[in-house]
This record gives sequence, structure tokens and C-alpha cells, in this order.
Amino acid sequence: MPPINTSLLELFRIGPGPSSSHTIGPMRAARDFLAAIRALPEEVTSRATRLEVRLYGSLAATGPGHGTNRAVLAGLLDQAPETCSPEFLGSLDLSPEAVHHIDLGGRGLVLHPADVIPDFTEHGFSHSNTLVPRLLDTHGAVLMERRYASIGGGFIHWEGQPEERRGEPVFPFFDMRSLKLALSESGMPLHELVLMNETALTGRGQAEILADLDRIMEVMDAAVRRGLTATGKLPGLGLARKAHILRARASAAESGAGRFLLHLDAYAFAAAEENAAGGIVATAPTSGSSGVIPAVLALLRRHQHRDRDALRQGLIAAGTIGLLVRHNASIAGAEVGCQGEIGAASCMAAALLAYASGLPIWAVETAAEIALEHHLGLTCDPVGGFVQIPCIERNAMGAVKAYNAFLIASVEDQGLNLMGLDGVIRAMLETGRDMSAKYKETATGGLALSCPAC
Ligand code: SF4
Repeated sequence: MPPINTSLLELFRIGPGPSSSHTIGPMRAARDFLAAIRALPEEVTSRATRLEVRLYGSLAATGPGHGTNRAVLAGLLDQAPETCSPEFLGSLDLSPEAVHHIDLGGRGLVLHPADVIPDFTEHGFSHSNTLVPRLLDTHGAVLMERRYASIGGGFIHWEGQPEERRGEPVFPFFDMRSLKLALSESGMPLHELVLMNETALTGRGQAEILADLDRIMEVMDAAVRRGLTATGKLPGLGLARKAHILRARASAAESGAGRFLLHLDAYAFAAAEENAAGGIVATAPTSGSSGVIPAVLALLRRHQHRDRDALRQGLIAAGTIGLLVRHNASIAGAEVGCQGEIGAASCMAAALLAYASGLPIWAVETAAEIALEHHLGLTCDPVGGFVQIPCIERNAMGAVKAYNAFLIASVEDQGLNLMGLDGVIRAMLETGRDMSAKYKETATGGLALSCPAC
């Protein structure tokens, strides 16, 4: 098994909601294609008269509700997720008569919203979330085509893509067992070991990496703050925002347990509602699940007054566990259902809570394992194809389960836990493989067909 050579900063990506695989990934793919066609010889681009982008699989099934058409259009207009404002995205005219101009570097090309085409939901490509942009001449002949897979969490890959050159980790690991071995051999705490690997992988200094992690936490907290004060209805299903109500109830609640849960719910709802509204979030590990980690961070910051170092170290632990899940299974709802999104987020959040609280690595593993174990089999069946029902409430459930997993792990004894995180991640992958396609972000089964009012 090759070692993990993905950076934490690729896992925690900043971008507009509502979906990392359906919004951030497609925008990155479209922008990548724009760069590729701009690099073509003038002799080729001079023959180009049309560009189309076909969406397949889950992108075709739930793309409109996930903002995929808008994201693809923005990418072709050279917008990057990390800098594209929700206002720009919202202002894009998707009406049939709208005309957009793509700059091919000296030559213009006209694009209509209908050129982004939801195609087959069942297809023979290797990944469910596939999009195929094509540059065409006046006879419809293909001048250039790329097959992109949006593989979850905003990651993309295209068929034939050359291996990216990057550094080698100083302490290679690929699963929890090899991570624990690297930790015991090096004698280093997890966050220091991972930071050394990050530096080796990215060529960036630790101060830069820590500043980036602080920026990720600021984006997460900003989503919580905006969501706590926003009122009204969310676009799409017209769902009323609830975070502000939950927070008001939390402030008024007397009982310790009720008050605690209401606060945690309010924070998770706040970030998840911002995501559903297309606001800027940080994938953790995806946009659909981007309320879980901000909720536990808000809890640690606002109620337990943990300092910045504890939060940074917790986020590094969470990211490391997220990379283990991604490397050995998947974080894409279109591949393994919601267990790979909310399940992975809850698993990461439990590790964050445990590590930031100073628990030893075996207890961090136990917390992560418990949280993921109790999300196994969780399907992805978003009502109407919007990242709202069940997604918003599910973020709160993921945060609550993470906290409970942390509490259970904190009273366990070393060596008494029989399962281990690697086994649960393997079980998640197997369960995902056995899951019917209708429960993998296609909105063709489960809750998506059961909502009488939708
Ligand atoms: S049900 Fe889960 S995996 Fe599916 S869109 Fe919602 S949050 Fe994402």
C-alpha cells in the first residue's frame, strides 16, 4: 500500500457550498479545462466554435440541486472555488437565452447555460461523478476532450492525468496501524509528525502551514457566526433556517445536558445552513458534512475556552484521520453513501475532541472508530437533490455522536478495544460497495422518494 501523500490543506478546502463533489470539484475541473484549451495552439483554437460539458452519474442526477451547472459555468469563466464569491455565483444568469463569453486567450467563445448538459445517470466511466468538457468545431468534431472524475471533497482527477510531482513524507504511513508505528518509532506527538510530513510534501514551512490551518478554522467559525444570525428560508426546498432558534433555546435552557446539546446543534445547523445557502465553507471532509467539525470547534472555543494550539492540534489530528478514511475507503457520498461524508466528519471530529483534550493516541483512535462505526450503512438520499434534508440535521447528529464517541473513548482502557479504526474503515468501504446506486447521491431512493411535502 503506498503511503498517504495528500496534504491536510487539500482535505480542508475553502469554497462555496453546497457540495464539494458537485460544486467545488466541477468548478475546479471546468477551470482546469479552460487552462488546457487556452494552452492549445492557435491553429486549433481558431477552429473552435462551441464548448459543451456533459455531466454523468450523480452529477447528472443531483447536479442542479447541488449547484453543479452554476459551478461549471463559473469555472469556465476562470473562477476558482477559494476566491469565487457566493454573490458572483448567485449572479450568473442561467436562463436559456443567457450568453456567457469564455476567454480563450485573445479569442472569445460563446457559452449558453444549456451547454452544460446532465447526461446519463448510469454510465461506464470509472467514477460515478464524471464530467466531460469538449471543445468542438463547427461540424461538431472534438478538438479537445477531458474526462474528469470529481472524487469527493473537491478532489478531481482526469483520465490520463500525469502523476503530480510532490515530496515524500518523512514518516510514511497509510493506515492507523502504520501511523501508530511511525508515532512510536519517532517518539513524536501526532501533530508534530504530521506537520513534518506536510512540510516535506508541500515544501512549505510550518509557520505557513499553521497560518493556513488558522485560516481554515476562521472560515469554519465565520460560517457558524453567519449561520447563527441568519433568518428566513433556504433556497431550493424553502426550508426555514433553524440555527438562530436553536441558539436562542440554548441560551434560555437551564438543564446542563439540554443546554449543551442545543448549543452543539445550533453550531452544526449554522454551518450546514450556510453551506446549503451556497455560502463559503471549508470542506471537512466535504461541503455536505462541513458543519460537524466547526460545531465541535465552536464548542471547544466558546464553552471550554481551549487555546489556539489545542484547536490547531485537534484539527491536525482530525485531518489525519480524514486522510486515512479517504486513502483506504472514500469520502464521496456518490461512492459509499453518507457514511463517507457525515460518518467521516464525525469520525474526524471525535479524533479532534480526543486529541485536543490530551488523550493518548490509542484513545484518539478509539474515539474515531466509535464515531465511524455508528454511521456504517448510512445512505445518501438528499430530498430534491438539495443538500438540506437530511443533510443539515445530519451534521448535528454527526457532531453529537462525535462528542459521545469522545466521552466513551475517554473512559476506556488501553487494549480493551477489539475493533480498531482500520477495521471500521474497511467495513465502511465494503458496505459502500454493497450499497445500491439509489442511495449514493442520486436522489432516487430512500428519503428522496419519501417526503410527502416535497
Ligand atoms: S445525505 Fe449526506 S452524503 Fe448525501 S448530500 Fe447529504 S450530507 Fe452529503
